[in-house]
Amino acid sequence: MKLLQLTFATLLLASFSLIAQTQPEHEKGCGISIKSDWLVKYQHGEIPPARKSLMTQYIPVRMVVVGENDGNGYIDPTQLLQSFQLLNEDFASTNIQFYVSDYDFLDLSSLYDHSTTSIGSSLASNRRESNKINTFVVGTAGGACGYATPRTNYLVMDKDCMGRIDRTWAHEMGHVFTLAHTFYGWESVEEISNIELTERAPSTLSYRGRNVPVERTDGSNCEDAADGFCDTAPDYLMERWACNIAGEYRDSLTDPDSIRFAVPAQNIMSYASDACVNTFSEEQKTAMITNMSTRSDFSSNSSGEGAVAANGEDMNLLLPEHNVTLPYNNFVELVWNETPNADFYIVQMNRSNNFNGNILFTRVVTDTSVVFDEGLLDNTRYYWRVRPFNAYQVESDFGDQVFRFRNGDFPVNTIDAALNAAITIAPNPVAGGQDLRIIGQDLGLSSNLTYDLIDASGRVLLTRENLPVAAAGFNERIETGTLPAGVYFLRLRMNEKLVTKRVVITP
Ligand SMILES: [Zn+2]
Repeated sequence: MKLLQLTFATLLLASFSLIAQTQPEHEKGCGISIKSDWLVKYQHGEIPPARKSLMTQYIPVRMVVVGENDGNGYIDPTQLLQSFQLLNEDFASTNIQFYVSDYDFLDLSSLYDHSTTSIGSSLASNRRESNKINTFVVGTAGGACGYATPRTNYLVMDKDCMGRIDRTWAHEMGHVFTLAHTFYGWESVEEISNIELTERAPSTLSYRGRNVPVERTDGSNCEDAADGFCDTAPDYLMERWACNIAGEYRDSLTDPDSIRFAVPAQNIMSYASDACVNTFSEEQKTAMITNMSTRSDFSSNSSGEGAVAANGEDMNLLLPEHNVTLPYNNFVELVWNETPNADFYIVQMNRSNNFNGNILFTRVVTDTSVVFDEGLLDNTRYYWRVRPFNAYQVESDFGDQVFRFRNGDFPVNTIDAALNAAITIAPNPVAGGQDLRIIGQDLGLSSNLTYDLIDASGRVLLTRENLPVAAAGFNERIETGTLPAGVYFLRLRMNEKLVTKRVVITP
């Protein structure tokens, strides 16, 4: 036995280091292991099972992308959306689908990198919003790949456990809908290497102050043992494990009746590695559907029926125009068109046109413009691109257009904070037909005012040059009767100082 233990431990180590080469974080487990009272009642027949809805039920998911206090460390939205697509594939057969209700950024180092799940839980719990499932994506999730508490509306994910092949999100969502691990009870055993493979398992395990029966292969105690589902196989494996080519644990285990059995690796609520798992059992699905129908902490609806993915080919970048040199500025506003079927836009700006590595600036917004104000360098070239996506059908590509602009090196034309404060545009937004007023107050000295009105595609619609203005101030009117509703820019220049103001004309 001793020899077998040793051999086993060595093999295990080897298989894990093999995983580590390609999937560095996948040896992490999930940080949760509570069986909910709801699930126990349901499995005892006190809550009748719900039928699967014929209409797909869409559940809002709020993305909370957590960074450090200085805004570093956010997960790449492309990676997050790939993970989200896989989450929806894993739930497709339940007729439960998730959609992106919000995409928020939160700069909070104590949550971004937290050492225990209890610290992370309390920070995340305080920052969740109601009526949706909040997914907090962090740098370090207390050493786990993710965790969730049954019957709460939030979960926490390690960003390194998200992507095209990572199943952690579906696993944690299973916990949100009250599912327990297939190896429930064995969480108290710290390592697989502590299981005596050829010796029979004990008939009970002490776990969280209770005696949990160990599941037998003959099905005689499947309703009370382990996860309480009879269509999930006995599973005693509480650490991440890789499956063999047959899709099973590579060795057999021995149940309390001394019967040897193989552990299948397909169930998402097991700890088999991402490449092995791909499904929930039918009983697990029915439990989740039933739990969803009883939940009041988030809503579900069928509003996503017929949703169509946005198309990057419909993306038109507008401002700054391609290849322009801008007056020197420490910020820039990027503007693009409203793209059909798009609910969100991923915006990336970089100092080179290679967007594969570290990217200077990435944001996800619902508007068709965003301000980059993190210290634009003078005399420097920048590249930017945008990917539209639909909240329900998130697959899409970046538009083919990559625009570049050069930030100028004319420090005299600097955006001037004092001038910016002295000039007001009112009303803004302005209803079309109503006059737009440019009001200057306490200018310090008399001067000449030059201004341009520019539309969202960069065309100059109106220019006034060298209007004498008094130090006390001025009041200039622009007629808007001929201007269609939309976003415009007023570029004002006085005493070699520049101010740009964004103006919205409403119908
Ligand atoms: Zn788990």
